[in-house]
Amino acid sequence: MAVTRTFSIIKPDATRRNLTGAVTKMLEEAGLRVVASKRIHMSKEQAEGFYAVHKDRPFFGELVEFMMSEPVVVQVLEGEDAVTRNRDIMGATNPADAAAGTIRKELALSIGENTVHGSDSDENAAIEIAFFFKPEEIVG
Ligand code: ADP
Ligand code: MG
Repeated sequence: MAVTRTFSIIKPDATRRNLTGAVTKMLEEAGLRVVASKRIHMSKEQAEGFYAVHKDRPFFGELVEFMMSEPVVVQVLEGEDAVTRNRDIMGATNPADAAAGTIRKELALSIGENTVHGSDSDENAAIEIAFFFKPEEIVG
């Protein structure tokens, strides 16, 4: 398996509860390495642009408001088959459906306030990484 990269966000429900370290520890224990990380407060434009794929979903407005409500930590993660590895440790979108030991099962509050974002394909990982990071900000 190849070493690849994925994009992660530690969402506002987690930064608000001081869980940046707890989430990062779970990512690291799953075999992922943080090769870029910054704490930002997303603008409306950034939140809408990042989640444009969901613009027709009924929860879009709520999602954008949530993502700009408090700071987030955007990260690039590296590891073997990073996209799948990250989705596995994240758990299902709805924490009620997430497997034991996953980030969302252990830490998330609800289907909306679900602690982490993770890219769903290598193609989207590349797009999402480029949305928030310049190449020189990523140090593997
Ligand atoms: P995932 O984050 O697991 O890839 P999606 O891409 O389907 O899930 O949705 C993006 C984000 O939108 C979710 O992580 C969650 O924060 C929010 N979301 C998804 N479904 C709902 C819903 N039914 N109600 C409120 N928020 C939702
Ligand atoms: Mg998604």
